[in-house]
Amino acid sequence: MALIVQKYGGTSVGTTDRIKNVARRVAKWHNAGHQVVVVVSAMSGETNRLIALAKEIQKNPDPRELDVIASTGEQVTIGLLAMALQNIGLKAKSYTGPQVRVLTDDAFTKARIKEIDGDRIKKDLDEGKVVIVAENGNITTLGRGGSDTSAVALAAALKADECLIFTDVDGIYTTDPRVVSNARKLSVVAFEEILEMASLGSKVLQIRSVEFAGKYHIPTRVLSSLTDPDIPLDEEQNSGTLITFEDDPKMEKVVVSGIAFSRNEAKITLPHVPDTPGIAYKILGHVAEANIEVDMIVQNAAKNGLTDFSFTVSRNDLDKTLQVLKDNVLPYLGEEGILTDASIAKISCVGIGMRSHAGVAAKMFRVLAEENINIKMISTSEIRTSIIVDEKYMELAVRALHKAFGLDKETGAMEG
Ligand code: ADP
Ligand code: MG
Repeated sequence: MALIVQKYGGTSVGTTDRIKNVARRVAKWHNAGHQVVVVVSAMSGETNRLIALAKEIQKNPDPRELDVIASTGEQVTIGLLAMALQNIGLKAKSYTGPQVRVLTDDAFTKARIKEIDGDRIKKDLDEGKVVIVAENGNITTLGRGGSDTSAVALAAALKADECLIFTDVDGIYTTDPRVVSNARKLSVVAFEEILEMASLGSKVLQIRSVEFAGKYHIPTRVLSSLTDPDIPLDEEQNSGTLITFEDDPKMEKVVVSGIAFSRNEAKITLPHVPDTPGIAYKILGHVAEANIEVDMIVQNAAKNGLTDFSFTVSRNDLDKTLQVLKDNVLPYLGEEGILTDASIAKISCVGIGMRSHAGVAAKMFRVLAEENINIKMISTSEIRTSIIVDEKYMELAVRALHKAFGLDKETGAMEG
């Protein structure tokens, strides 16, 4: 007998028929003797509908009240799933986040889980019940897509044997299979790689869920919720993609394991600022103080003591960043104005094999040059190389890179 936490995302519970399928799948695991805790999202489209309602009242909705509204979406799903399980003869009990005391800090939409009280859940499980938990904790929804995080955090708190993330694709691919049709499913992915991919925009897993999986070493698997719910358990147990925490020697041979991309980027340039020591701090210090995360930074070579200073932030933070600059930075740096570009995208090649191989950046440049795509910014770290391009070339660039790094082939090794 194992304790399994299963998570089903919005598409997987998007209709009552799908909810019935989830119930059958859960019943299969339960009837095989496992204890099952299920975390569910709102039915797909529901959260957007609720947020749109909020925006009809307030253009920039109050974060606390927005969470109050958005968290009703998951409440509907947990109730429906509990009923579907009861219909097929299982004992089931649903809990909203606050009821199982998933405590988070109060940074609302970017909240982190601080504490989970698992006693009530343990008691229900011992009584043979399936426990269903809404993704929101306390009164906080952990940001959009927080259900991955809730599931892994619950798995950690309950010392679960496994966390299964059921979704609308059958695993983690070399890149988003909806953008590159011959993307390849990975049977295993290194924890560091999926951590990078998640933080670089791949939406298959929420970054904090990967952080939790790594922090507590939770065996976590991504697999399909759309297969026949009655497929044999042992087949399902080995399907999808497993996140591994050990270095698999086989994986080292691959230089680039995956490509992540994100449209959620914006570039800000302060032209002709004085090229004096501390200038970056003068600009970015205020931005950091406002809790805005800066990603890439470029300071051009100075000419006549002046330089252009550019950096990128998440597109959601663009307005806030501009306000901070107008209030705190422009008064000191003169009135050259601020240039913004919100139609950029970031593409990142990720792979632990990059630790021992140089040349990924050079190859990326060559591939994009051949496609006539201009690279606007570059940044690298130990296991990734990221570039900024015009948003309109993003998909073309991803496909070209995916092919050039051989990711569509079983042994995606780099040739020259
Ligand atoms: P859920 O509602 O189940 O949480 P999401 O839409 O959040 O599902 O995540 C699943 C989606 O992630 C897939 O439909 C796919 O388009 C996208 N995706 C992005 N990158 C990848 C990748 N590397 N592998 C698999 N899916 C990916
Ligand atoms: Mg998701």
